[in-house]
Amino acid sequence: MSETKDYYEGKDKLWHDRWFEMFRKGKWMSNPDFSSTMSPEWDSYHPYSCNTCKRGGLQSLNLVRCSGCRVVKYCCRDHQKKDWPMHKSWCKAFSKVSDINDEADEKIDWTEWSRRQNETSRKIMNMVRGDLRHSINVQIAWVQPHCSRCFRSGRISGVDLVVCPSCNGVAVCKSCLGHETDTTWETFHNGDKQECESYLIYLCCSAMIVEHEKPVLRPSHTNCTETFCPKDWIDYFEKKGNDFGTWLDGPISALRIMAPIVCFLTDGLTLPMTIQMFLGELSLLKKSELSIHILGAEGQEFIATRAFLELGRLNPQLKRLDIVMVGPNLPNNYSHSYPQFVLSSEEAPCHLEGTVDHVSGLYHRCPAASGPVPDLFVAFNPGFQEPSHFVTWRSTLELVKTRTGVPLCITGFNFSEVHNDVKVLKGVGFQEKVPPTANPFRSTRPFLDPSREETDFIYNNKAYAIVQGVA
Ligand SMILES: [Zn+2]
Ligand SMILES: [Zn+2]
Ligand SMILES: [Zn+2]
Ligand SMILES: [Zn+2]
Repeated sequence: MSETKDYYEGKDKLWHDRWFEMFRKGKWMSNPDFSSTMSPEWDSYHPYSCNTCKRGGLQSLNLVRCSGCRVVKYCCRDHQKKDWPMHKSWCKAFSKVSDINDEADEKIDWTEWSRRQNETSRKIMNMVRGDLRHSINVQIAWVQPHCSRCFRSGRISGVDLVVCPSCNGVAVCKSCLGHETDTTWETFHNGDKQECESYLIYLCCSAMIVEHEKPVLRPSHTNCTETFCPKDWIDYFEKKGNDFGTWLDGPISALRIMAPIVCFLTDGLTLPMTIQMFLGELSLLKKSELSIHILGAEGQEFIATRAFLELGRLNPQLKRLDIVMVGPNLPNNYSHSYPQFVLSSEEAPCHLEGTVDHVSGLYHRCPAASGPVPDLFVAFNPGFQEPSHFVTWRSTLELVKTRTGVPLCITGFNFSEVHNDVKVLKGVGFQEKVPPTANPFRSTRPFLDPSREETDFIYNNKAYAIVQGVA
């Protein structure tokens, strides 16, 4: 457990205090005949909401449980039917591995609860195909309805859960509530207002996808006339806040104050902006040509490909940028030059030359590894410290280490992860250049990962460190 503080703890908010009031006016909150559904590729699980449209308590809807698993809920039969092709395999696997009679009706603590959830999700992962890390299937197994005080499952008959009216994200059972009848957010979060708000933002991020189909993951619209290396997101949005076009029906200025929009923008921009910060720290911002190799790239790098244009927007002196992303889980091989990126009519053309390449495979075996040495190696949330990951990383790290003097920048979902990764890197002979540090350009989008005790919510690229190979 690390004592390092998150960059945004105690800092000014990135969104307006009344963002939810504004959000309330949207279709998801205010339209009773709402029929849109979550697109599966962006899906996330909310235990007290309809599994298809993510609506529920905030709209005063009564939800009905799936009779198969008694875990997921729906606002109507239509949404249950729509979700069944996706939910089917999970529902069947869960019903096989979990017997409601095994779930003792007893008070347990977090440790015992997480041990049980972990065991269940492991069993289900063996039965359901596909990439399950961070996927909705693992989330359902982990965060299914339960009392946040006694950890009894909402599936046990007689366990009557009351859900937080402010965030619709956590519940306490009636027996734990006892005589507490006046239930406000404080009852559910031990007085931690920020926790309640994080749950609300987490849900509203999903709601935003339901309303608009896709999150906003994009670079800003205009080019800076001189190098812009902001200190943090507050600084960044000060200059760029109105630079993302009329994506909503509302006014452009609304972008700045809407928490879910800021969350999505930072979720895409955390990659180029974290790189921009690395370039600043390593005094590489004056260069007119840059080559960056991103190691262990996955879905998030793939999705954010277009957001790398931001490095051109912020660096007018940069003429050429070549990015090679390599990872075994990248969906395909692909090479795209910057002028080929499709821009909307509001977006200014970007002067960058060079390409973004996706290479599916392991870095030490790919052609880029034996080509010209890059200016920078980056690994976003690599998780070297997990022994099963390290096996596949070892040869790549041995190779990167021989590129002496080229920095390797890493990030992680939390501090202990980055601490442990640095320990592993030192173990194979790297030298620490910048110790684990809070990242001012972490994503601000909360992601629920109850398997980590440190906090309920994790953030993409929350902390970083820089190492390098030495001769
Ligand atoms: Zn629904
Ligand atoms: Zn089910
Ligand atoms: Zn309870
Ligand atoms: Zn709450």
